Amino acid sequence: KLHNEVQELKGNIRVYCRIRPFLPGQKEKQTIIDSLNEYGELAITNPSKQGKDGQRSFKFNKIYGPEAAQADVYSDIQPLIRSVLDGYNACIFAYGQTGSGKTYTMSGPDGASKEEWGVNYRALNDLFNISQTRSRIFTYEIGVQMVEIYNEQVRDLLSNDGSQKKYPSLCVLSFDFTNDLLDISFPLIYLHTLGILSTSQPNGLAVPDATMHSVNSTSDVVELMEIGLKNRAKGATALNERSSRSHSIVTIHVRGADAKNGTSLRGSLHLVDLAGSERVDRSEVTGDRLKESQHINKSLSALGDVIFALAQKSTHIPYRNSKLTQVLQSSLGGHAKTLMFVQLNPELSSYSETLSTLKFAERVS
Ligand code: ADP
Ligand code: MG
Repeated sequence: KLHNEVQELKGNIRVYCRIRPFLPGQKEKQTIIDSLNEYGELAITNPSKQGKDGQRSFKFNKIYGPEAAQADVYSDIQPLIRSVLDGYNACIFAYGQTGSGKTYTMSGPDGASKEEWGVNYRALNDLFNISQTRSRIFTYEIGVQMVEIYNEQVRDLLSNDGSQKKYPSLCVLSFDFTNDLLDISFPLIYLHTLGILSTSQPNGLAVPDATMHSVNSTSDVVELMEIGLKNRAKGATALNERSSRSHSIVTIHVRGADAKNGTSLRGSLHLVDLAGSERVDRSEVTGDRLKESQHINKSLSALGDVIFALAQKSTHIPYRNSKLTQVLQSSLGGHAKTLMFVQLNPELSSYSETLSTLKFAERVS
């Protein structure tokens, strides 16, 4: 217990590891996982190396084995998520190679039942429900955006839909990202050049150029998530499995107002299903595929650099090196809390990818 508390004191960055189970019908059953324990210690083995050489160990703030349920994972991160209603900013990522369970953790499996709901559904639903129970003290408004970043381009996953609801413009104006940038007085023209402020939005709706949708019921939550997932999948058929090569970001904005004394607060939560971290063999890919993988490498290493700089309490945080880190800037650093799920595939055949995932995690934790 003490062990964990000391870990928690280290800062605003936490790294949790989740190992997915072998899948039904999967032939390969040989695992590289040696052991894991409640202190977040993980040992893996490379069977091609004899003895001690083939063993590596890593340490996380928490580890979930293959049997961990979605509800178990959510209950551990619930305090972090609820802190958004108190005005905190937070960011949760899922990092790992394609097939390691990132989407399972963040969204759930395809056609998830309520038990199988991932973090995104649970977080949004929880925030909505808690905001209702607090409604005597505070009036909350909850707005959601959902975008995809593919080849350094931001795409709105919630637009082009007839049932789109307008978010009150009051809240749009209080969008975190604009304020954060304006605070450090970036000239507006610069923001326009970077594509950060949209010229087509007269009210100055900030990054990303995405529609904001209000949440007024649990069914709104489910509906929004489904539209987003469907739109993400649409890109996939056109560009062949694009979802594994794009980052998807669900952003939940919360604004609470206390009518009695006129105070208000706002918080935001970014929930990020990152592009697959696997390295592609440069000799085998060309053209669009090469460009995609270069963009992914660039943005994942930019993210690693930002988190590393934050962990080191560095004075310069290199947010501007990728679209991903620009979009997430308001929720990375400062008083914002960051949580990364490092997703592992237990199979022997993915040993080298798993090792590089673990090295990424080691650097940022
Ligand atoms: P990624 O998004 O990293 O590419 P997915 O989330 O799509 O990976 O997971 C790959 C497969 O493994 C999917 O069929 C998914 O349902 C399954 N899966 C992943 N994690 C778990 C888990 N913890 N329990 C059960 N099945 C899982
Ligand atoms: Mg996925």
